[in-house]
Amino acid sequence: MTRRGDRYYMPGGSDQTLGSFLWRAERMSPDTEIVSRTPEGIERYEYEKYGERVARLGHALDGAGVGQGDRVGTFCWNHHRHFETYFGVPNVGAQLHTINPLLPNEHIAYIVENAADRVIFVDPSLAEKLAGAVAAEESAFDSVEQFVLMAPSVTEDLDGSGLDLVDYESFLADHESSYEWPALSGEQPAGMCYTSGTTGMPKGVEYTQSMLWAHTMATLTPQGLGIDDTDVVMPVVPMFHVNAWGMPFSATAAGAKQVFPGPSPDPADIAGLIENEGVTLTAGVPTVWFGLLEHMEDNDVDLSALERVVIGGSAAPPSLIRQFDERGVEVVHAWGMTEMSPIGSVAHLKAGMEGWDDEDRYDKRAKQGLMVPGLEFKVIDEDGAEVPWDGEEFGELWVRGPWVTTEYFERPEANAEEFVEAPGGTWLKTGDVVTVDPEGYIQIVDREKDVIKSGGEWISSVELENALMAHDDVAEATVIGIPHERWQERPVAFVVPGGSADEDTLATELLDMIADEYPKWWVPDDVEFIEEVPKTATGKFSKKDLREEYADESLVAGEAPEEAAPGDG
Ligand code: AMP
Repeated sequence: MTRRGDRYYMPGGSDQTLGSFLWRAERMSPDTEIVSRTPEGIERYEYEKYGERVARLGHALDGAGVGQGDRVGTFCWNHHRHFETYFGVPNVGAQLHTINPLLPNEHIAYIVENAADRVIFVDPSLAEKLAGAVAAEESAFDSVEQFVLMAPSVTEDLDGSGLDLVDYESFLADHESSYEWPALSGEQPAGMCYTSGTTGMPKGVEYTQSMLWAHTMATLTPQGLGIDDTDVVMPVVPMFHVNAWGMPFSATAAGAKQVFPGPSPDPADIAGLIENEGVTLTAGVPTVWFGLLEHMEDNDVDLSALERVVIGGSAAPPSLIRQFDERGVEVVHAWGMTEMSPIGSVAHLKAGMEGWDDEDRYDKRAKQGLMVPGLEFKVIDEDGAEVPWDGEEFGELWVRGPWVTTEYFERPEANAEEFVEAPGGTWLKTGDVVTVDPEGYIQIVDREKDVIKSGGEWISSVELENALMAHDDVAEATVIGIPHERWQERPVAFVVPGGSADEDTLATELLDMIADEYPKWWVPDDVEFIEEVPKTATGKFSKKDLREEYADESLVAGEAPEEAAPGDG
């Protein structure tokens, strides 16, 4: 992408830009509420006021010298001030760079330096973390001219943080509440998010105005998330994870009420907001929802307003889908990637499937689903051939479309590996190993790096995990391949117990259960009980951490199963 400079101004007319969504919400839904849980309590205002504050932010950014193509970082949880940057920054032609505060300091320093952020908005509860990253690598922050504290004032304890802080409300004060936004080109970079790979430093993905516009339009369709103005939308997925899956943009475009759950919301906070604000649609990774359901075991929670929970980021275990169904809430299983702005597929049932029997419907809904309109995909096997749509054969998922990036920011070596140019448009190689069934539903069998190869055959860690998590006494489970002399790798299960069964009994039950359902060589060689599955900064199971931790433990040094992988010898 070429960038910076006048070419991003539109000479006339208008392009596919985010500003149109704000324009609509201000005028068509001026009285619709935006609600935010903050350290000061619940704050609420309407789109009309929101628009005014976004305008003031636009002027304040101008005043701070932020120009076309400049990057502005945020280091924040989900709240109304962060939401104001979602439109304020792109509308002046700058680029909103959401930084994941859960990353290690050296990654934070790397991405701020790489993005050359001019201003960083930071939450009070995250200021110490940011100050730590600055202290660790001060020169990485040379581009930053101003840190803005997302609070009404700079408290004494933060005054000495080492960051040159101005509070957000003072930053906006004295600025006009209307703004003649510049006409921007759809090619103007509007957003940026870094994706953490398994190795090396995070890679930057830039979102242009038109990528975010197209993603928003697709998510508004019934085949996407089908958000409309009767919804009350609460993204629990953090706004630093790929724009909270685009929901603040989609909800604004729809003119829906929005609820932001604030810093580190726990299950009680989430439950309270659903009840008190009448949330109809919420979204987050599976761990969040396991937490809510657990909370509901001991507490009365009224979920009657809640219609849908979007689950993504990791596979939604079928047991989770069923538990929500029992409470009258539909789980919408979605798959996506940072590189895809992020939504790619959603597991809706197709016409006619409503009449299918329960098991068949669950089978579809637990898959990663159907590509949303606007995207294309294919699945490529190890020989470079497309796999048939038979739900059996698997290969790597390749995708392309208007909101799929075609390059990483300043990372040519990664570009060469992960993108393939083709006559119809550049493909992104997702690294996800999938099957496609005859109806077109994709199912992730594994991440390429997580597939367990035993005796030349593949074992899906995802399937084993789902099977284990379906057991009543299992809170969470993950399965990794441990190096094995004879079989190259053998699966070992790591289980967080969630019931009263003693460990030996539970381990035997789990292994018997897997043995009943899967080939014998899929049965894990061991079940290890742990207190918690380590998570990555984006809430996924961190198998890398487990692999490192257990690399030297000879979990699988015992007898190999007699009847192991058929591919062996
Ligand atoms: P990220 O870029 O951090 O959002 O990670 C993207 C990766 O998360 C995908 O390539 C998948 O491996 C995984 N992922 C996202 N959604 C799902 C899902 N619904 N089921 C399984 N894996 C998922």
